[in-house]
Amino acid sequence: MGTYEASVRRALDPEQQDLLDHEEHCSSDPQRLAAAGADCGHQVRIERGGVGSGLYTVSQLRPESPDTVVRVGKDGRERLGTSAEFDGILDTRIARSELTDNEARDCGEFVERLQDNGSQTGLIVLAPHGGNIERHTDEQAERVAARLGERRASVWVCRGYRCGDLSAGRWHITSDDIEPRSFPALDAVFGRGFADAVSFHGFTHDGSENEIVVGGGADDLKAHVAAVLVRVVAGTPLTVRIAPPGDPLGGAAARNIVNRITADGRGGVQIEQGPLARDHYPLVIADAVAQAYRARLRRRGAGHPGTG
Ligand SMILES: [Zn+2]
Repeated sequence: MGTYEASVRRALDPEQQDLLDHEEHCSSDPQRLAAAGADCGHQVRIERGGVGSGLYTVSQLRPESPDTVVRVGKDGRERLGTSAEFDGILDTRIARSELTDNEARDCGEFVERLQDNGSQTGLIVLAPHGGNIERHTDEQAERVAARLGERRASVWVCRGYRCGDLSAGRWHITSDDIEPRSFPALDAVFGRGFADAVSFHGFTHDGSENEIVVGGGADDLKAHVAAVLVRVVAGTPLTVRIAPPGDPLGGAAARNIVNRITADGRGGVQIEQGPLARDHYPLVIADAVAQAYRARLRRRGAGHPGTG
């Protein structure tokens, strides 16, 4: 883990179309990045002096002169409040998990949390975008784990907070890019071989405020979770649908962390929710998800009575 003083420069057009298209992506010099303890595909924190920090995925290595040049597209620089080039710090330690949640909120920071009994291999519940990034998703993940008990469910959440004019979106790393080696708490359980994983997310598309979209790589479980949700939200304005193949909210990619963290690589279910669902029914939805997994986890744990 290390830091260096970085010159944040424009992405090259057209050579770095990926950076122009993805505000979360950056490029860096391979040797300089390796000396700081990271590699292509890892996440890094870039600090814009006196303004704030944000997270990026190194999607490309490119020899630079000087080797401190880091390239980011315009949308990516605007995550830190400017369309101009700027000097800053690149840090391969991305979270500030030594802060309490209240401290992180007060200073607009980013923290990572894990609750895990050190051995269970049933379910892991994920919320990579908690805090202000996708409101209430971290509470939902912790609720599911509390309902199922620590012998059946572990929970990993990140919380990122807004800071002055900088939105919490600058802490968002898309689930397909999340690299466990960049998140120490996640890395500690990544190789465990969980049978199942479920993740909570939020979206804000106009016209779909009421929607819950169930995706992920686990086709049978997806249908089961959606069926339980349909029953539970009957009588509310919420609607539930299963993401069709190719849906951008579908979470079906093998590289999505919710699938990657399971023993067979496709045991993930991803719950995407509009703002009305998360703001008004967060725990109703979480309880339905816990209910959907309860019988399955009891069957796995036969002979080991759980805590309910
Ligand atoms: Zn999300």
